[in-house]
Amino acid sequence: MAEPSKYLIVGASAAGMAAAHTIRAHDPQGVVTLLSQEPDPPYFRPMIPFMVSGKKRAEEIAMDGCGPYTAQEITVKTNARVMSVDTKKKSVSLDDAQTFAYEKLLLATGSRPYIPSEIEGTNAPGVFALRTLADARNMAQRVTSTDHAVMLGGGLLNLKAAFALLERGIKVTLVVYSPEVLSQLMEPEDAFLLRKALDKAGLKIRTGASATGVNSGPSGVTGVALDDGTELPCQMVCIGKGVRPNVEFLDGSGVQVENGIVADATTGTSAPDTYTAGDVAVTFDPVTGDRVMTALWTNAVEMGRCAGQNMAGVKTAYTGTFGILNATQVAEEPFVSMGVVHTKGKDLEIHTHRTEATYAKLVFGPAGDRLVGALFIGDITNAGIYRYVIRNKTPVAKFKRQIIDHTLHYGHFLT
Ligand SMILES: Cc1cc2nc3c(=O)[nH]c(=O)nc-3n(C[C@H](O)[C@H](O)[C@H](O)COP(=O)(O)OP(=O)(O)OC[C@H]3O[C@@H](n4cnc5c(N)ncnc54)[C@H](O)[C@@H]3O)c2cc1C
Repeated sequence: MAEPSKYLIVGASAAGMAAAHTIRAHDPQGVVTLLSQEPDPPYFRPMIPFMVSGKKRAEEIAMDGCGPYTAQEITVKTNARVMSVDTKKKSVSLDDAQTFAYEKLLLATGSRPYIPSEIEGTNAPGVFALRTLADARNMAQRVTSTDHAVMLGGGLLNLKAAFALLERGIKVTLVVYSPEVLSQLMEPEDAFLLRKALDKAGLKIRTGASATGVNSGPSGVTGVALDDGTELPCQMVCIGKGVRPNVEFLDGSGVQVENGIVADATTGTSAPDTYTAGDVAVTFDPVTGDRVMTALWTNAVEMGRCAGQNMAGVKTAYTGTFGILNATQVAEEPFVSMGVVHTKGKDLEIHTHRTEATYAKLVFGPAGDRLVGALFIGDITNAGIYRYVIRNKTPVAKFKRQIIDHTLHYGHFLT
């Protein structure tokens, strides 16, 4: 058995690292150990597309030595995959049979790409799902023998991967079953400006189509078979069909899992002295009250910090996970989507404003007295204030006109 840790953290990414540094701020002495199944030390995951495009090297996106992530007597063990957790004996076991004892445990194991089993042939060389630094390295290598890449799925992460590949000068086609890209962040008719920008950037998009299989030969991928019977010849495929939480190692542990790990009001789980944070956690949306899981770095850091405080004995309520996305990297078109933006068939008050270069959608609750969602494309000025108003459920009667006209600013909160 390894030296016992006062604080043991499984997963050394946004949530795990934020928790570790928060713990250290409150407890300068207690042993903090992080276990990561990845071979690489902690890095900024949202930046891995830059490894694919060749704009950044691995050292440039590493957390160590960067801002608050300087090592403070915090031990990170890489290639350390946790296979099981014994919450009664308070220990975890790794795939190499090592065990680690703990006093407080944080489960921050994030998520992994979902690869639909109905798409045949996804094991072929040249098929990727961009999640880790190792994936990015391998994709960057494969580009050298690729003329055409096919992206399956039209979410934000796959768009980022698509742009990284376009920057390498290859042809890229995105296949999406929905009528438009980014369907989780906006409704199809809201996406027209982004679509224009994507077309201009050279991304080919096939909507209303899905892949049935990946064809391959001795050197890997040769094409993607579509459900309309056609084939898109290509040498690389990147699958972006959502993620699944990493929870399998908790089987039999007594930790309550409902899709993800269920978190209570102070980030605790159903097991004693066991906490959770980040993509793997099931928490709540402060606006809708719904149980949610989000896949955002900022949320993972915020929840990780909260868990770190609770683990160090500073009882802190978690304020909930509110989705906000700023995707300035996509086709040089800035946009922010937050709160409730899917409005079809719902009793909501909706205002849209459209110009040649901008689009705004403001969504109010049924009584019209609270802002519940906002989408800005092209002009994201003061998006942070709108986030504040939504998140705090601020009564809007006094400045509703300014919200609708997109002229709200800090001055409106001074009196
Ligand atoms: C390409 C890409 C671009 C992104 N861009 C953005 C962006 O622009 N903005 C944004 O907000 N978010 C972005 N995200 C999402 C963001 O990276 C995640 O929300 C964030 O990383 C979640 O952090 P986490 O700590 O919860 O989990 P993760 O980052 O998933 O880390 C969990 C870690 O735990 C490890 N682990 C899992 N199981 C075990 C086990 N049994 N034993 C040991 N270790 C284990 C995993 O391997 C991983 O290293 C992006 C993600 C990707 C992939």
